[in-house]
Amino acid sequence: SPAPAVAEDKFLISVEVCLKPSSTARIEDVKLAVERMLENRNLSYADGPVDIPQDDTFLTDNVQRICICDTEEWVSNNDILLFWQVKPLVHVYQLSEEGPCEDLDGDSQLSSFSEWILPAKDFDGMWESLVYESGLKQRLLRYAASALLFTEKGVDPLLVAWNRIVLLHGPPGTGKTSLCKALAQKLSIRFSSRYPHSQLVEVNAHSLFSKWFSESGKLVAKLFQKIQDMVEEDNNLVFVLIDEVESLAAARKAALSGSEPSDSIRVVNALLTQMDKLKSSPNVIILTTSNITAAIDIAFVDRADIKAYVGPPTLQARYQILTSCLQELIRTGILSTSQDGDQIILPNYSCLKEKLASSTPQDSDYHLNICKHLFEAAEACEGLSGRSLRKLPFLAHAAHMNADCHDLTKFLRTMINTITRERSEI
Ligand code: ADP
Repeated sequence: SPAPAVAEDKFLISVEVCLKPSSTARIEDVKLAVERMLENRNLSYADGPVDIPQDDTFLTDNVQRICICDTEEWVSNNDILLFWQVKPLVHVYQLSEEGPCEDLDGDSQLSSFSEWILPAKDFDGMWESLVYESGLKQRLLRYAASALLFTEKGVDPLLVAWNRIVLLHGPPGTGKTSLCKALAQKLSIRFSSRYPHSQLVEVNAHSLFSKWFSESGKLVAKLFQKIQDMVEEDNNLVFVLIDEVESLAAARKAALSGSEPSDSIRVVNALLTQMDKLKSSPNVIILTTSNITAAIDIAFVDRADIKAYVGPPTLQARYQILTSCLQELIRTGILSTSQDGDQIILPNYSCLKEKLASSTPQDSDYHLNICKHLFEAAEACEGLSGRSLRKLPFLAHAAHMNADCHDLTKFLRTMINTITRERSEI
């Protein structure tokens, strides 16, 4: 197993503490209270929620939930982390309930960017909802954390080169945009003691270039003035997200070949120059996505340090995505799991394999059947994107309407039929 990452020979484990919206407690006080609570909690560490002791009124009054994160970085194969092996790193945050603040461009009603204060309620739970083959999310988090650390420590970029540009590329619908937003949210939580304020600006490149090129120049200038203002405050951590960066390269190419108005080349170039300037600011992380995997001809991303291919979900990821969908339908009462009062617990992928291999007499055929059907469904949706997968249970429900949703096996059979139909329509 990997060597402990730290001091005192202990594993550093992040513990995220979300304050209630109504809480006015000081972050530092809550942090101390949680650290004290964890010291007295002689239980092993695994990802997931931590119960708040009911007699701790300070915590129950102020804290919405406490979550242990990233233990799988250190342990795998159902190993456990014992409390004395762990040094918890407590991060306390309060979600911003404001939705995106959009900038509508006068008459045209096109918004050239949206802005969120992080951590935002809109992105709560997004990181956890994204399922990839092991390590992708952790790798991104570690890269970005190292980049921020180098900056904070003042490492001379002439001696050690690094940058704060992330490029996620891969087929559409694989969660790249969501992953960028979720990453920004995570980093804003993890780095809140260094950067108490954090924002995400999503640049809508499409609307910047779609029509009024003569207006676009002004929009770009306005946008970057705004970003520059945020960046000048050195307690601010600013994330700039540009989706489908390849559209910038395409617009420039089209302009050069004369098929686009010549104004557009000025706008694209202005944008690229501004991005180039921005990347030297220490408190900015530029997040970009692209649906093409070929090299992208844009100066500010071609040397991105953090490049990751985001592919369609693997069998294990598909199984987990479908399981999380069903759990949500069960939670909301749309599907019911009890048959003769038995509650069904959908096993995670590693337990599933064991379960299918060695069913015991205690397992009802009903339960086993559900597991089999779910696995079959996961196999059937090979090649579908994560986005399509998350729509399947809805489509299946619509198709299933007249039947009752109390029989999970029937529902799953409808879902498998839906998958077959969806695949034939790709
Ligand atoms: P992209 O930017 O790659 O086109 P999006 O971020 O727009 O993809 O993804 C759309 C939605 O699809 C996400 O919000 C998420 O619900 C779902 N999704 C895609 N990939 C995954 C995945 N690997 N795990 C879980 N959900 C996913």
